[in-house]
Amino acid sequence: MTFAQILGHRRQKEILQRAFASGRLAHAYLFEGPEGVGKRLMALALVRLVFCADGSGCGICSACRKIDHNNHPDLHILEPDGAMIKIEQIRRIQKELSYRPLEAQKKVVLIDGAEKMNAAAGNALLKTLEEPNGEALLLLLTPHPEKVLGTIRSRCQRLPFSRLPRQELLTVLLQQEGMNEVEGHILTALSEGSFKKALGRDRELYLERRKAILKSLTALSPGSIGPLFDLAQELAEDKDHLPEILEIIQVFYRDLLLHAHGAPEEEMVNLDLAEKIRRVVSRETVPSLLRKLDAIAASQLHLGRNVNRQLAIEVLLMRLVA
Ligand SMILES: [Zn+2]
Repeated sequence: MTFAQILGHRRQKEILQRAFASGRLAHAYLFEGPEGVGKRLMALALVRLVFCADGSGCGICSACRKIDHNNHPDLHILEPDGAMIKIEQIRRIQKELSYRPLEAQKKVVLIDGAEKMNAAAGNALLKTLEEPNGEALLLLLTPHPEKVLGTIRSRCQRLPFSRLPRQELLTVLLQQEGMNEVEGHILTALSEGSFKKALGRDRELYLERRKAILKSLTALSPGSIGPLFDLAQELAEDKDHLPEILEIIQVFYRDLLLHAHGAPEEEMVNLDLAEKIRRVVSRETVPSLLRKLDAIAASQLHLGRNVNRQLAIEVLLMRLVA
């Protein structure tokens, strides 16, 4: 991946390219911004610049290819081992940094998920940051800079990344991924500018499973307590996708509200469910939809804490079918 191939983030690209060209790269960067917007691609493109034989990040030379295959001896990528990045991992990296680079001018350490460093690991890393070594470049990546030790943050040059504009993402989905307009529209809206979400494992969730979940949900009635419990259980068991599932439900109710307000259909997200939306709206009112959107927001808040998931979803479903 070269800088030219990275979509969006023009300002961040310029900052890094200019710093590299003038020999003024900081010794540590903190790339902060939402999951899946391309922080890691940007970090690897920077590593290519730094290691490349002709300094262009050509993608052809042996250094560039080793980066792409994740077997360059001077690039160390650190990710959480389980839930956390542990002090042993940091110590191992510090040992590596005490040796000279083998093939490149520098050694690069890329820490993906910097907020996952526990306090011991963070404090150990601090030592490396406090004694910058001209032969080391540290790239810390995080969606949650507020969870990174303040002392670490203040020793890095911070580079914020934001979500990609919808239109940029839509263009990629239609032109490079050959998606049809309706699917591209739905994925763009639901993935909020995250390529990882739009193209990765969530694609099936956002396209097929979304329809299945909304079908089960809209088939519930106040009297059908059995199916309601079944659906609550199914959703509660899918803990990893729960935030996305709640978002799918929220966006559907937002579509209902837009329809109830007489907005044109193309403003809705669920373009492929127009008939269902018309049918469900006929049994709702604007105040009832607003109450249901409040209920969804409340359950998102609750589920963000460690509550009984199944119970929280049962309550939500009861409020949605009431
Ligand atoms: Zn190269």
